[in-house]
Amino acid sequence: MSEAIDTMKSASQQPVTTLDAGIAANSMQYRRLGRTQLRISMMGFGSSPLGDVFGATVPSEGNRAVALAIDEGVNFFDVSPYYGITLAEERLGQALDGKRSKVVLATKCGRYGKDTFDFSAASVTSSLEASLKRLRTDYVDMFQAHDVEFGDIEQIIQETIPTMRRLQEQGKARYIGITGYPLKPLIRILEAVPVDSVLSYCRYNLLNDDMNSVLIPVTDKHEIGVINASPLYMGALTNHGAPEWHPASKEVRAAAQKAAKFCRDNGCDLAKMALQFCFRSNRVASTLVGMSTTEQVRKNLHALTTPVDEEMMNQVSAILAPVYNNTWPSGRQNNQD
Ligand code: NAD
Repeated sequence: MSEAIDTMKSASQQPVTTLDAGIAANSMQYRRLGRTQLRISMMGFGSSPLGDVFGATVPSEGNRAVALAIDEGVNFFDVSPYYGITLAEERLGQALDGKRSKVVLATKCGRYGKDTFDFSAASVTSSLEASLKRLRTDYVDMFQAHDVEFGDIEQIIQETIPTMRRLQEQGKARYIGITGYPLKPLIRILEAVPVDSVLSYCRYNLLNDDMNSVLIPVTDKHEIGVINASPLYMGALTNHGAPEWHPASKEVRAAAQKAAKFCRDNGCDLAKMALQFCFRSNRVASTLVGMSTTEQVRKNLHALTTPVDEEMMNQVSAILAPVYNNTWPSGRQNNQD
């Protein structure tokens, strides 16, 4: 994929203000997403927390977080009907009211509940219509098949993606992509049918880096844009720790909490370090971090602009080494890595 980076602000990314002394103005970098015409901020705004996926949030504060992120140059927003079972889309739609033209907006189809999936043509079509209403827009920039490992991969290749392409031709989506956790089904799709982007989560961060060795060679070959999601390992790499529903083993959670304590005891913050680790990658177009408060937006932008403490990062990596590259099963049995 293109590694072109530019710091230029397009009209749609203005204005850039410094609302907090910790944020350096004009610091955001933009990268082209694969072969698309989309230039997305290297830090993206993951909207699943707006759907109360990680605990209850305050909608007015979520609105402020979205507005602050846009003012500070974040232009990439990702959501799904699955997050909070449409709540995140509703709230993001409200937060983006009057700001739609300033952002690159991504949503998804196919996953509608923990165990509810439908990748059929009819469902994909009606799902996008419903998402557009909730998001208060008549098109999305990126439309993604959500968690493909839970579907029949043949159906996704033969039916889901062609339907998404038809919706693209109708102008309802500018580009299409796929998302998921195990890398094998993502690669199988990428090798079979052209898509514009792939979102991989929890596979490139302080706890796991197999996205680089397994997925990136394939995306490079086909010039497919890569989005790296969940740099905080869905909350595990924070002081608060993983939510109840987190699929990681107790050994992984314990190691992450040990690393968090080590950071606290040494005057630094594990979440900041985890983000900085991901921001260093030039193989991905954007690192997508879930946020719902202005404080998180400020902190995460600050992580983008402050130097990495290499010595501390080495020590944290040593703490996490015993559980490095551990994974969990996700999706259908035949879609596992
Ligand atoms: P994440 O690793 O970004 O962690 C989010 C959690 O960290 C939330 O609880 C958030 O409140 C908290 N947080 C954020 N900044 C913090 C900070 N500075 N200090 C402490 N805590 C902080 O996980 P995520 O939200 O799952 O992933 C990011 C986004 O990527 C999602 O919101 C979603 O848009 C996308 N995503 C997509 C898929 C998929 O398509 N299958 C899967 C995972 C994530």
